[in-house]
Amino acid sequence: PGIKRAAHQAPADSYLFYQAHGTRPFIDRAEGIWMHGQDGKTYMDAASGAMVCNVGHSNPRVLKAMREQMERATFAYRLQFQSEAAEGLAAEIVDLMPAGLDRVFFVSGGSEAVESCLKFARQYMIATGQGTRYKVISRHPSYHGSTLGALAVTGYTPLSAPFDPMMRPMPKIATPRHYLDGGTEDEDAYALRHADMLEEAILREGPDTVMAFIVEPVGGASTGAVVPGAPYHARIREICDKYGILLIHDEVMTGVGRTGAFLASEHWKVVPDLIAMSKGFAAGYAPLGAMIAPSRMVAKVLDAGGYAHGHTYAGNPIACAAGRAVVREVVERDLSANARIMGARQMAGLRALKEEFPFIGDVRGLGLLQAVEFVADRETMRVLPPELNAAARLVEIAYEKGLIVYFRRTRGGQSGDHIMVTPPLTITDKEVDTLLERLRDSLVALRK
Ligand code: PMP
Repeated sequence: PGIKRAAHQAPADSYLFYQAHGTRPFIDRAEGIWMHGQDGKTYMDAASGAMVCNVGHSNPRVLKAMREQMERATFAYRLQFQSEAAEGLAAEIVDLMPAGLDRVFFVSGGSEAVESCLKFARQYMIATGQGTRYKVISRHPSYHGSTLGALAVTGYTPLSAPFDPMMRPMPKIATPRHYLDGGTEDEDAYALRHADMLEEAILREGPDTVMAFIVEPVGGASTGAVVPGAPYHARIREICDKYGILLIHDEVMTGVGRTGAFLASEHWKVVPDLIAMSKGFAAGYAPLGAMIAPSRMVAKVLDAGGYAHGHTYAGNPIACAAGRAVVREVVERDLSANARIMGARQMAGLRALKEEFPFIGDVRGLGLLQAVEFVADRETMRVLPPELNAAARLVEIAYEKGLIVYFRRTRGGQSGDHIMVTPPLTITDKEVDTLLERLRDSLVALRK
């Protein structure tokens, strides 16, 4: 009430209801890293939406592929027809996977991809005579999706607690966050101590009840691009093998070049048993996700009566055509390499900003999955109380300055206080510099 809204802005009585994020401009059009609002302003998309638009907006190759597919067939139900789009994309994806991960199950998003992994893991356990195993250990904080299964393994109680009576909450271990804990202990030793918590949790729960461990190879928005290194991931793999537990990598955010490799796990040469992918997969052009599994596991599940899971839109030809063009764009233009090079340039800029602004406690990340952590006090890494959340204020200021950065509204302070700086992988050096200038302007305004 009392707030005048321009005609181009969402009216107070919009029929949509999303989380309260204030009033946002209507989108007019977007290309590359730029988004034009109907308010006449141009915004730099330094969030890639929500770490989605890896190949930039209005990418001509993707649009062409979608247009061509649309003119042939927009929908063909997967149990009635095969589609070249789905078969072709699956073949290209398998080529990019570690050896052995050679079967693809398409879905329409990240939560569905995680859900597919959880249900597949359970059916694999039953098929192999290990029906007592059903627990999935995960980390806290973490984010694996909003459906009830994915939420049960999500380590973020403000989101999951209301639903605990409707699902079976799963055991959690701490996500290593070196920057929070004084940062004096050797980083690898610190991370290894955290990896060993997995073994403790397995023993505590009873190894014959534990089915899988699910992990984001680089932490997403809930932790702000936390990167435990090679020793951590290798130790996790070792522990899973020791107890016959499946290792599920949630590469929904990290996959398709985002961290400077097609899969983040390539940085550490650790091969999981199952992979969940989405977001950058069809890069915002269409809803697409996938579970990747080894054929030796798939065979067991199919032989035991089939994989009892699926969604109507799975393998949608338009989504798969988009995904295929995106994957080719990432591979042929080597956008993973660009993510490494531009990521290094951006990180150097963020480090300089940390020097300049004492309320930046940490900058971190891998490739173009980066975060800036705000603190009230660098010594203790204490963050401001949630109502003073610096990230939330910075996001609004940056909007004014024509810069879009990502943040997750933190509830109860479990997720710290950070923004994600995750532009499309197509970003150029000049655009990185503009991004850093606009971010600096925003930080100056935040300091006032
Ligand atoms: N896993 C991870 C790591 C994610 O970042 C997300 C989305 N932020 C999801 C799963 C859920 O994906 P979606 O929102 O597409 O369901």
